[in-house]
Amino acid sequence: MEEAKNPTAAEPKKLNFLEEIIEDDLKSGRVTSVMTRFPPEPNGYLHLGHAKSLCINFGLAQKYGGKTNLRYDDTNPTKEDTEYVDAIKEDIKWMGFHWDKELYASDYFDQLYEWAEQLIKEGLAYVDDQTQEEISKGRGTVDTPGTESPWRNRSVEENLRLFREMKAGKYADGEKVLRAKIDMASPNMMFRDPLLYRIKHASHHRTGDKWCIYPMYDFTHGQCDSIEHITHSICTLEFDVHKPLYDWFIKTLRIWPSHQYEFARLNLTYTLMSKRKLLELVQKGLVSGWDDPRMPTLCGVRRRGYTAEALKMFCEKIGVSKRDQMMDIQLLEWCVRQDLNARANRYMVVRNPLKLTITDWEPGKVEWFDCPLNPADPEGATRKVPFTGELYIEREDFMEDAPKKFFRLKPGGEVRLKYTYIIKCEEVVKDEDGNVVELRCSHDPSTRPGGGEWRSVKGTIHWVSVPHATEITVRNYDRLFTKEDMNDIPEGKDYKDYLNPESLTVAKAFAEPALADDQSGIAVQFERTGYFFKDPDSTPEGLIFNKTTSLKDSYRPE
Ligand code: ATP
Ligand code: MG
Repeated sequence: MEEAKNPTAAEPKKLNFLEEIIEDDLKSGRVTSVMTRFPPEPNGYLHLGHAKSLCINFGLAQKYGGKTNLRYDDTNPTKEDTEYVDAIKEDIKWMGFHWDKELYASDYFDQLYEWAEQLIKEGLAYVDDQTQEEISKGRGTVDTPGTESPWRNRSVEENLRLFREMKAGKYADGEKVLRAKIDMASPNMMFRDPLLYRIKHASHHRTGDKWCIYPMYDFTHGQCDSIEHITHSICTLEFDVHKPLYDWFIKTLRIWPSHQYEFARLNLTYTLMSKRKLLELVQKGLVSGWDDPRMPTLCGVRRRGYTAEALKMFCEKIGVSKRDQMMDIQLLEWCVRQDLNARANRYMVVRNPLKLTITDWEPGKVEWFDCPLNPADPEGATRKVPFTGELYIEREDFMEDAPKKFFRLKPGGEVRLKYTYIIKCEEVVKDEDGNVVELRCSHDPSTRPGGGEWRSVKGTIHWVSVPHATEITVRNYDRLFTKEDMNDIPEGKDYKDYLNPESLTVAKAFAEPALADDQSGIAVQFERTGYFFKDPDSTPEGLIFNKTTSLKDSYRPE
């Protein structure tokens, strides 16, 4: 018999453009193994954009059996701090990535200095006494060539002496700079005598007061890549214009040829990802800190209950592109739900309680139900849920004048209390003002799951037993900003004008007792409501849960 072809066999996944480049490089022998690096500047906490960069840099190295260095780009002593260095490492570990070497651009300051002297000696760099304004004016524009600095033709000896004096601390900040001597008329502005070193009398978080001159980004990054033999130096699109200079330094210094490749940075709706602005939110107290659950930082979304698995799923879905685009935050939330739906433990929590009394229940009797922690795994672990004659249900699960299609509780109607009995609403008790304060119900003992005859009703609602309920605090989070495209702030407006005043509301809720014993370490599902993550501010007496995301959403990924 002829064997049938399997029509569902998955097509091999199309390579992204970086994978194509790497496979070509391995085939042609330009490289024999893959080495990438993740180069954060330790001037803030990592955010969701960095998660994309992490997934690309570590992901590609993993896929091709290579390695990734963690290299701090620490050439700006006044903005950097060891607090950030430590936080960045914690975040990368949380994402589940392992770096090969932990390195710092500052490890190479001596080597970079030597290369600067080499350029001076070869007549390719000079000390410029112009002010910052004069220098930028002399640069010209895209349409007009720049003008040469009056100091451009100093002798090699004079340049060497002055540069050494700069290093020795003879000059004040801004008094002199070292520039490459390339071409003030180049159509590429980057080649119009770029700055190599600036004077900054500031203590560095690693080198202390050893240096008072610091190399510029362009004179640092490519050389560090070269020293570490980074085969694919992957960065965001805005560095595209720096690439010819990156190559020029490598060629001119005659060092190991690293290559740079650019991809589109991550932009997300309703989200800001500039470290400078995030720092301002923290410093002005507009959020509770870098790890405020509304922040797009990795420590923020972690405290919100997002998982590293969900972030990786998201990065996988958005892929790697060469064109800037705005991604929908709902796709990220969808990924969070996908991951948590499969893994989160379930508990019943009532947020806006209405008392429900089972009038035909023996007073004081407690019946314990074994309920699955995750219905996707019915054979898996269970939790014990106590049922009594005194319950809370969600106020919105009862309606006095209910429309026909309302399948939850109404006067004279029946509903199943999740995992337990079908009950019937016999009487509605109101206070003097006519507010419903209690429902009096009967239960049908024959409807106990697993016993008697199975009978079904349309509605199932969650509940908790009043004498067993744990009162908890719930922090409900919403988007931090109200504007969809936070990269496009109109003239005269400030990004802070779009802060959502309702991004945090706090409420009490009543939980079944097993919630307090949850050891899963990830967010849990409050049944029929959403996912919630235990906040580190919790104490055994005062549990606090942060809303991760609601349970359902009409959003579907394309
Ligand atoms: P910001 O502009 O938020 O301050 P940055 O680019 O200055 O970010 P770095 O610490 O220099 O932050 O970035 C480390 C790496 O992460 C770089 O390779 C950078 O290109 C990448 N990266 C930063 N932001 C994003 C983003 N939104 N999407 C993808 N990659 C990003
Ligand atoms: Mg940067």
